[in-house]
Amino acid sequence: MTMASKPDSTHDDSDDKAADSTEPESALETARRQLYHAASYLDIDQNIVERLKYPKKVHEVTIPIERDDGTVEVFTGYRAQHDSVRGPYKGGLRYHPDVTRDECVGLGMWMTWKCAVMDLPFGGAKGGVAVNPKELSPEEKERLTRRFTQEIRGVIGPNQDIPAPDMGTDPKTMAWLMDAYSMQEGETTPGVVTGKPPVVGGSEGREEAPGRSVAIISQLVCEYYDCQLEDTTVAIQGYGSVGANAARLLDEWGATIVAISDVNGAMYEPDGIDTASVPSHDEEPEAVTTYADTVISNEELLTLDVDVLIPAALGNVITKENAEAIAADLVVEGANGPTTSTADSMLADRDVAVIPDILANAGGVTVSYFEWLQDINRRAWSLERVNDELEAEMQAAWDAVRSEFEQRDVTWRDAAYIVALSRIAEAHEARGLWP
Ligand code: GLU
Repeated sequence: MTMASKPDSTHDDSDDKAADSTEPESALETARRQLYHAASYLDIDQNIVERLKYPKKVHEVTIPIERDDGTVEVFTGYRAQHDSVRGPYKGGLRYHPDVTRDECVGLGMWMTWKCAVMDLPFGGAKGGVAVNPKELSPEEKERLTRRFTQEIRGVIGPNQDIPAPDMGTDPKTMAWLMDAYSMQEGETTPGVVTGKPPVVGGSEGREEAPGRSVAIISQLVCEYYDCQLEDTTVAIQGYGSVGANAARLLDEWGATIVAISDVNGAMYEPDGIDTASVPSHDEEPEAVTTYADTVISNEELLTLDVDVLIPAALGNVITKENAEAIAADLVVEGANGPTTSTADSMLADRDVAVIPDILANAGGVTVSYFEWLQDINRRAWSLERVNDELEAEMQAAWDAVRSEFEQRDVTWRDAAYIVALSRIAEAHEARGLWP
């Protein structure tokens, strides 16, 4: 079965020549190569592409906090605001030791495309703090979050820039952010951040949403290639919010989940894992292998001969080193940026279909949009309404991407970029360059 289409031979590859260069590459390098690649299929103003290579602004702040032992430690935080032509900046906040300025810019670019592919009235941003959250007590994490909020308070807001959870942050972190912002502004402002607990204006279904969209898209792509979920085997890297929710839904809908993993390794059961009986990272951190009879490595999980592979943990896990060994027919990206540019071309050459992150995990920001609407209107939606509307939005985005995929004979990633970039370029053209 031919799963992925290759770029046609007339396509000008000169701008993504660097795709063969050294790995690991930064999120910014990957994001820029993907931009050039998709832009070369479109008849859009090169000046707009030039603008989109750069963020509008990157805020870098110093965050001193008092540790529990009384000493003061200083961390660096960022908020990269990429593009807001279609609406306020939107994107997560990450607490991870590898957070850098460039990573935030690259991830912010992906948020711009993700919001556009979903047709949400948002631009793209990403931020974070270079810190290992595992080394912070809850109290230290709270102090870090409140001080970071204070440092970026002037550049965020419900109509300016709306953060959300990402790696190392969660609803509790968002509640602290919302409280710090609201106390300083003198008014309760739930719309400044999404992914909050429902009791303070969060949306039902927001936490499960990225995993739910991964499951919905996996089902749609399986249908597209005429395979039934009942006959489909799936391996999932990562058992946090994205991986565990995707695993449980796909399991419920009839797929056989043969492997799941966390940082310690993977649980492998060729006959299928009862995903409900294995606690997710949020329920019991890093416990997957303690429930396993057979443990394999994360690297082995990635190369299992399954129908669908879902990398749902870190970026840059499918690289030129293992791309040849990927045996799945379909890759559905649950994490942001799990496939390097070189690996992406290698998979395309082998007709392995890669459904990109900006479509597959976009349920998170889509339900963030629903949350923002609920906050502005001061009216909560039921879980049923959230899930129904999410399903409709995913179907609409899938239809738009599928149509480009079929008409242009490009990869799924290029098709998603073409949808996103066309919408963004049109908005830039309509608004113009001023001042
Ligand atoms: N951090 C999530 C993402 O990468 C969600 C962003 C949001 O909801 O704003 O898509």
